[in-house]
Amino acid sequence: MTSDYATRIGSDLLAVLRSVAGDAAGQPIPLHEPSFSELEQRMVRDCIASTYVSSIGRYVDDFGTMLERYTGACFAIPVVNGTSALQVALTVAGVKAGDEVLVPALSFVATANAVTYCGATPHFLDSDSAIPGISVERLSSYLRTIGRPAKSGLVNRTTDRPISAIVPMHAFGHPVDMKPLLTLCATYGIAVVEDAAESLGSFYSDRHTGTLGLLGTLSFNGNKIVTTGGGGAVLTNEEHLARRVKHLTTTAKVPHPWRFVHDAIGWNFRMPNLNAALGCAQLQRLPEFLAKKRSLAEAYRRAFSDVRGLSFVDEPAGSRSNFWLCTIRVWPRDANLRDGILEIVNQAGYGCRPAWTLLPKLPMYSACPRAPLDEAEMWEANSINLPSSPGLMRSP
Ligand SMILES: *Cc1c(COP(=O)(O)O)cnc(C)c1O
Repeated sequence: MTSDYATRIGSDLLAVLRSVAGDAAGQPIPLHEPSFSELEQRMVRDCIASTYVSSIGRYVDDFGTMLERYTGACFAIPVVNGTSALQVALTVAGVKAGDEVLVPALSFVATANAVTYCGATPHFLDSDSAIPGISVERLSSYLRTIGRPAKSGLVNRTTDRPISAIVPMHAFGHPVDMKPLLTLCATYGIAVVEDAAESLGSFYSDRHTGTLGLLGTLSFNGNKIVTTGGGGAVLTNEEHLARRVKHLTTTAKVPHPWRFVHDAIGWNFRMPNLNAALGCAQLQRLPEFLAKKRSLAEAYRRAFSDVRGLSFVDEPAGSRSNFWLCTIRVWPRDANLRDGILEIVNQAGYGCRPAWTLLPKLPMYSACPRAPLDEAEMWEANSINLPSSPGLMRSP
């Protein structure tokens, strides 16, 4: 049963969705759908005509270069998807079997899975109160409580395992407060690998997300701001790490015109040229997508400013968000009404969804170490992602 109050908030939300995102009566409005133009068609056709559709070709080289230019990273290595990008980034950052890696409790499952693929254990952290990403303030006091400094770095005093890395994730496009995080991690010797899967086009101060840590990763899955069908990339400013990423993702083959020698157990994580062709076209259109998402966010922000019971989640001060998924929160005391509200708007054809179930609540991660998760619990309980496709906006 949906309470009267939930029905009232639900109909207020419906009114906003109708005015901002349009009428969903004829056709449902999805949470996020990609936008393709003649440019994408032309570049993919050209790639097929070239016959270079697989692991080498001009597009995959161009795509890496375009990413370097746009993000300001010295090196961008395209790979098969964002999860593999994280796996290889953690590996070259030095994460070993038996380590612990700090990850947000509120994230897509890939963030924790990539840690597990390295044989390490995810150790879950709380969110900030203003953004869904990790709270650096809480992290700082938490590490003082649970950490024991050792010669090799910080050790979790309860499990005796080294804490070798941290994966800040810029959730829904809102940048984590990287400056204090980098300072804190430098003092403890913790490697910073940014999961920037959701934040292509988001900047912390004047730096692109994913370029502040030792390494960063992007995703070009179909629901992200730019898609290659499936795809990802690793970003870094360190040449030796970039070489290592390139080597490990291309089966660790020692370059030679005809001899097949591999000097490590690498992976076949190369992005196919065909996918990169789509990506080259999409990256050219990124400024258009960003402008449309920003005006969509402005329209939502304005509309929710006078809706009682719902608050719009804004970009943090000093940062520029890509507003990948526009998000609102049900006021905390009414968090229990959230699912009733979701029911109403989804029935009406608006693709709205809650944030992820906290990772430590999933069966495979239920025994992993974790900080107190009060803020993450609240985000899990009261947030709603709104329809956010760039196609919902006319060209600004
Ligand atoms: C999309 C996403 C990834 C990577 O996803 P792939 O589908 O493997 O490209 C990783 N982390 C987060 C937070 C994501 O949203």
